[in-house]
Amino acid sequence: MKVAIVGAGISGAVIARLLAEQGIKSVVFDKRDHIAGNCHSERDEQTQVMLHVYGPHIFHTDDQEVWEFVNQYSEFMPYTNRVKAVYNGAVYSLPVNLHTINQFFRQTLSPAEAKAFIEQLADKTITDPQNFEEQAISMIGKDLYEAFFKGYTLKQWGCHPTELPASILKRLPVRFNYNDNYFNHKYQGMPKEGYTEMVAAILNHPNITVKLSSAFEQAMASEFDHVFYSGPLDGYFNYSEGRLGYRTLDFEQFSAKGDYQGTAVMNYCEETVPWTRITEHKYFSPWESHENTVCYKEYSRLCGEEDTPYYPVRLVKEKSLLNKYLDMAQSLESITFVGRLGTYRYLDMDVTIREAIDVARHFLHCQSAGETM
Ligand code: UDP
Repeated sequence: MKVAIVGAGISGAVIARLLAEQGIKSVVFDKRDHIAGNCHSERDEQTQVMLHVYGPHIFHTDDQEVWEFVNQYSEFMPYTNRVKAVYNGAVYSLPVNLHTINQFFRQTLSPAEAKAFIEQLADKTITDPQNFEEQAISMIGKDLYEAFFKGYTLKQWGCHPTELPASILKRLPVRFNYNDNYFNHKYQGMPKEGYTEMVAAILNHPNITVKLSSAFEQAMASEFDHVFYSGPLDGYFNYSEGRLGYRTLDFEQFSAKGDYQGTAVMNYCEETVPWTRITEHKYFSPWESHENTVCYKEYSRLCGEEDTPYYPVRLVKEKSLLNKYLDMAQSLESITFVGRLGTYRYLDMDVTIREAIDVARHFLHCQSAGETM
């Protein structure tokens, strides 16, 4: 049995590992010169700060098995993501919580008062929100939406929030207490020596061969009994039906003496500021101490042919093109499409790992039962 795995990111590494443990050898191809995909991390030479090279990745999950899985390959350190947001000359707390509401409206509301206040601002005529904007206005009303979501979303996604699915906003909670933890999940943390070391440990098995700087061509698929593909879905088919939209990010890296912004993530919500956020990477490793600091100013734009794709856009109007590709993918028996790019979905790391575990188990089950996948 010869298995190829395309992409040495989280999906590919997890699948390779689970197959390897059952005696199945695989070759993992990655066109980049490093493993770990977009969660690749490396230390800055000058400051020794651990950099999230492709932007911040914070591990959070409710899935105990996934949490136990990652903890086998790295020590996880406590990390709680607390995001701040700049709007109209003031700094606020995100996700929208009681502090945000009281600061923004210059109030001293209690939780119950704030809930009643926001309910009266929320548009109750929208009962079944069809897009991002409707979802936001029906949850928090126009003022908070326009301050914290409209401009940021226009910059992040390059289109009007009415063109985006409501699901993007459902990622973020709204709270009527002072809990400013960006996530609701039970398990949250950061791998002590970075994601690349964790992925290296997952891939470290005699049945796994990793080939870096090695692009996988469609023609190579016939050399393998099965291929797990975590590259862009439309890319696999040479964009024959047209291109799906992805966003890419540009990072302007800069160093500063001491401290720059005093926190890991500062969002810039106004449309007039060209960047979406500034991340200060030493704050992603709060158990370390560093004299100086490294920041990334983050800009989002449409992904060009040579750029690294980050976010599948999933415009409401793109659905039929996506369905064509999904049908084409489904018809290929010996290829399984996995991960954020392979399935064209906005997946977090924990869901990516859950799906990779399930895909690998299903494959192993089919192998032992003599069935095709
Ligand atoms: N968002 C926003 N303002 C913010 C933070 C987030 O409008 O200050 C919206 C934006 O559309 C973003 C989405 O909420 O794409 C999800 O935010 P999240 O922080 O989960 O994005 P990620 O860290 O994955 O880029």
